[in-house]
Amino acid sequence: MKYISTRGKTAPATFGDAVMMGLAPDGGLLLPDDIPFIANRIDELRKLPYQRLAYEIIRLYADIPDSELRKMVKLSYSTFTHKEVTPVVNVGDVWFLELFHGPTLAFKDVALQFLGNLFEYKLSRTGRELNILAATSGDTGSAAICGVRGRKHIRIFVMHPHGRVSSIQERQMTSVLDANVFNIAVDGTFDDCQGILKDVFNDLSFKDRYALGAVNSINWARVLAQIVYYFYAAFRVMDKTGRMRVRFAVPTGNFGDIFAGYIAARMGLPVSKLVLATNENDILSRFFNTGVYSAGKVHATISPSMDIQVASNFERYLFYKLGSDPVKLAAAMDDFKRSGRFAISPGASGAVDPLFAADSATTDSTLSTIRRYYVKHKYLMDPHTAVGAGVARMWLDDSEPMICLATAHPAKFPQAIIDAIGKDAAHHPEMQKLEKMPTRMEVLPASVEAVRSYIERQINK
Ligand SMILES: *Cc1c(COP(=O)(O)O)cnc(C)c1O
Repeated sequence: MKYISTRGKTAPATFGDAVMMGLAPDGGLLLPDDIPFIANRIDELRKLPYQRLAYEIIRLYADIPDSELRKMVKLSYSTFTHKEVTPVVNVGDVWFLELFHGPTLAFKDVALQFLGNLFEYKLSRTGRELNILAATSGDTGSAAICGVRGRKHIRIFVMHPHGRVSSIQERQMTSVLDANVFNIAVDGTFDDCQGILKDVFNDLSFKDRYALGAVNSINWARVLAQIVYYFYAAFRVMDKTGRMRVRFAVPTGNFGDIFAGYIAARMGLPVSKLVLATNENDILSRFFNTGVYSAGKVHATISPSMDIQVASNFERYLFYKLGSDPVKLAAAMDDFKRSGRFAISPGASGAVDPLFAADSATTDSTLSTIRRYYVKHKYLMDPHTAVGAGVARMWLDDSEPMICLATAHPAKFPQAIIDAIGKDAAHHPEMQKLEKMPTRMEVLPASVEAVRSYIERQINK
């Protein structure tokens, strides 16, 4: 399997190179040159436990010796506290795919525990160093840090928008005091952090000199690890309901998680709908309803990991949407960069993409979704999950079970739980430990120069 850039100006790369590169040198995102279609293997794959299924899916895309890959997958999911890794639970008329049983209690652990092991495997074979630079709106940072803390040959620099992540999210990152971990609080928004990240990566000489790598959802290995649980969840729900088609509802920020669902569908998993749910930062739901992609202002909400206007992974989807034509893609992205907007026309069916349904949820409706499931079913969910579960209700269908992705443990967002149900009911022992731990971070202005020189100073220390 070769990896190509959405912008078409990078030579095809191996899986290993694609993972280490993050962003392609031409500014594009890397994609496999082929999506394996495996509908004929569903009966076989359905019987596998999570780790075996992960191995079977990842090996379709990765050139890693089988025995190494098996070890890597096993190690990556041994840090999860549930034996099924990502269990599916039936609550009322929907299913929740619980993705929060990893070490930082958010779905990003599924990919980043794997990525940490993948980096270590690659670096131990080449003897090289890697300096990871990441931007986080909350959960990526702690999951990425947790994936690589204390590892040899790796430093990690994580930018978060100063004061705009929850205090628990901030503590989850800044309480990791390993010498290879550097937290940068940027005076700005998440989009500022992401802009700085892109600019630093586009400075190719800097990127090469310091062996910069990415763990943001632009890294293909993250998408890859996330494809697995779409298969796993669909299989469990098929087993329990006897239905052979399912729908997924996915709370969305950077279009990473739902893009993995899109790839799973293209691989032949019988998914009839991907329900894309945003909070008030609704650029993606507007796009799927109108064909117009236009950035608005970033609003701070109770689901901060989705407070994003420019979704970094969307470029991958758009590449396929524009017929895998890098020239058209580059033109659309240029349009967007210049004018903050571009449009595509809906298909013959009137829909931008019949696989997707999309809507946004307000803070009030999200709080009432949390309340509704708690009161009716004693099931407590975090506000990101509730954005998805709320929007999902518009597309329920008796013959096609709805699987809602539960992306974080409710104990990560205690204030939203209090606002929703009037009491502090969400707890987790890992969260309680955080309160007493010492923390460390560096506050920097929202400027590329400031971040670049900080990184340089730390590396050259
Ligand atoms: C990151 C995150 C999301 C959004 O996922 P994307 O891949 O960015 O769309 C949703 N919920 C939680 C809890 C997250 O951490």
